[in-house]
Amino acid sequence: MFEIITNLHSHTPYSDGEGWHREIVSAARQAGLNAVAVTDHNVFVHGIEGYYEGVMLLAGEEVHDCLRRPQSNHCLVYNANDGLSPFAAHPQKMIDEVKRREGMAFAAHPYDFASPVDDDLGGYPWTEWEVKGLTGIEIWNYMTEFKRHLVNYPIAALAIFFPSLFIAGPFKETLRKWDELAANGHRVVAIGNADAHAAKVHKAFIKRVIFDYDYLFRCVNTHVLIDKPITKNFERDKKMLYSALGAGHCFVGYDLIAPTKGFVFSARSGSDTFMMGDEFKRRGAVTFQVKCPAIGSIRLLHNGRVIASGLGRELEFHTVEPGVYRVEVYRPFRLLNRGWIFSNPIYVR
Ligand SMILES: [Zn+2]
Ligand SMILES: [Zn+2]
Repeated sequence: MFEIITNLHSHTPYSDGEGWHREIVSAARQAGLNAVAVTDHNVFVHGIEGYYEGVMLLAGEEVHDCLRRPQSNHCLVYNANDGLSPFAAHPQKMIDEVKRREGMAFAAHPYDFASPVDDDLGGYPWTEWEVKGLTGIEIWNYMTEFKRHLVNYPIAALAIFFPSLFIAGPFKETLRKWDELAANGHRVVAIGNADAHAAKVHKAFIKRVIFDYDYLFRCVNTHVLIDKPITKNFERDKKMLYSALGAGHCFVGYDLIAPTKGFVFSARSGSDTFMMGDEFKRRGAVTFQVKCPAIGSIRLLHNGRVIASGLGRELEFHTVEPGVYRVEVYRPFRLLNRGWIFSNPIYVR
């Protein structure tokens, strides 16, 4: 397999971001990303996709109903190749339209909480869980997590200057919901993103651009596993990336605390080997294998419950139980154990 590092959630001045596409591409290159998606609010920008500075620039959209009160249901749309905002008031119709265009729809920051430090920092959760056809959910949105840590002014001031003291992992609520959906038979692809805006803060004595794109693209990323190397032919590579993403051949990594490239979660049954996102009918025992690029505290979960764990670079586990299996890896960084790697599930039937 070949691994490409992506960040699939960022904003430009077409909505509420501060940097243009060129800046985003440069930041992505400096951060070592292979692909970056721009997902402006209710705007699909035509004619920008392609390879720039060796980085794939993808055009997506973050669709939501601006008139809805309270605000909710931000949906990340990829590969629809046109704007979907006319459907924003009807999430199911929108998702159906995305499917018709062979695109993908992800619930963005499904748990999102308002911060008391600023009226502009509202909460935008996903509430439409009864919709059918979501490709997956954004299990870790860096800016959403950051916002939740802003519980008062002194802490907010500290967090703005030292965000890495605070960022610790996906919300428990999100992971629980993901496990619940998977336990109910849904295949739910997990992605993790920056939600980069390069926002400017002008508050009292603090005047600062927080989270420039470059910094954010070194943090929470989605690593996608493709079966052939990238060709630098944009259309071919885009197709390969999106088809692997839709199949859940990916994991979420917090690359700031240690590079997550090289992580492996696989299952062996009989003479077949399966990867993240795969679904198979077991033949006899199943052996799961986890390999990390550095030492971590590895947890293997079965239907949302930890069934094996260990500190190290590898973990192996044998079972005959069907169910949904996924991996979480934690690493200590600045005095705290922090979420490092979150695999997509392997579905054993
Ligand atoms: Zn959003
Ligand atoms: Zn966003």
